[in-house]
Amino acid sequence: MFEIVFLGTSASAPSVHRGLSSQVVIHDEFRFLIDCGEGTQRQILQSGLGFKRLNRVLITHGHLDHILGLAGLLSTFMRWETIDKLEIYGGQWALDRINDLIYGIVLRGAKPPMDLQLLQIKAGTIFDEDDFTVTAFPVWHRGPDCFGYLFEEKTRRPFLPEKADELSIPPGPWRRDLVNRKSITLLDGRVIHPDQVLGEERPGTRMAHVGDVGRIDELEQAVHEVDTLIIEATYMQEEVEMADKFAHLTARQAAELAVSAGVKHLILTHISRRYRERDVLAEAQAIFPNSIVARDFDAFQVRRGECVKVEQVRDATNTK
Ligand SMILES: [Zn+2]
Ligand SMILES: [Zn+2]
Repeated sequence: MFEIVFLGTSASAPSVHRGLSSQVVIHDEFRFLIDCGEGTQRQILQSGLGFKRLNRVLITHGHLDHILGLAGLLSTFMRWETIDKLEIYGGQWALDRINDLIYGIVLRGAKPPMDLQLLQIKAGTIFDEDDFTVTAFPVWHRGPDCFGYLFEEKTRRPFLPEKADELSIPPGPWRRDLVNRKSITLLDGRVIHPDQVLGEERPGTRMAHVGDVGRIDELEQAVHEVDTLIIEATYMQEEVEMADKFAHLTARQAAELAVSAGVKHLILTHISRRYRERDVLAEAQAIFPNSIVARDFDAFQVRRGECVKVEQVRDATNTK
């Protein structure tokens, strides 16, 4: 299961109700901040998430509405918050600009308040953990090196306790080894193989996040049949020429991608204040009924075939 919490859902400039682009993806103890528009640190506090373990930042591209918040975040970390390590992942163009912002404006010769790393990514897997991966894929927008991110749980085989009982395998480490696909030798000398107690392979949850983007055809493959696609919808179809000119999508185009790629749920973000939210939603739902327009502080749990809006758990120990 992946959880996504929207911190900022506005396009280009903030509105009264929407902050600039930022969201957190949570998987067990892992947290990924995707983009960090101006004002993100306050949204982090207001969301109840806090700064703890928020030490991996994935950047979609180098436009200011997606990166300016890094300056404020760093500035706060220099004074109050303690975080051991901050890793910022992005394409070269985005990292060059972030480098200027952090080292030219914020630090100006001072030492970073933590182990700070700017890590250039290329298309491909950027995290390969025990039970999930994160893969970057190229996205066409203004400027080079723009990326979308695919979060995928690895397939797993469920442990079948009734089979283990039939084989009289005692609870404890033997069963754990079998779950981890290791053969075991019991005290009575019998060798048990994982196949004897594990069920059929079950595919894991897949969730894709795409930031600013101007073309959908190249994305079909990358977001094929994901359980939830999060993508921008800066314009509506009546202004499709503008969308084209600035390399953004209309709500309709985002919904068309959801249909052609066979995704299960669609969440739209990067919403312009020139439109009413319900009009954006209606345009998308006319093409793809399982569409949602995200608001700041919305949180969703994404599982296989499922995307459920949740009341966010506020962990009081995280809020400072
Ligand atoms: Zn943007
Ligand atoms: Zn942009």
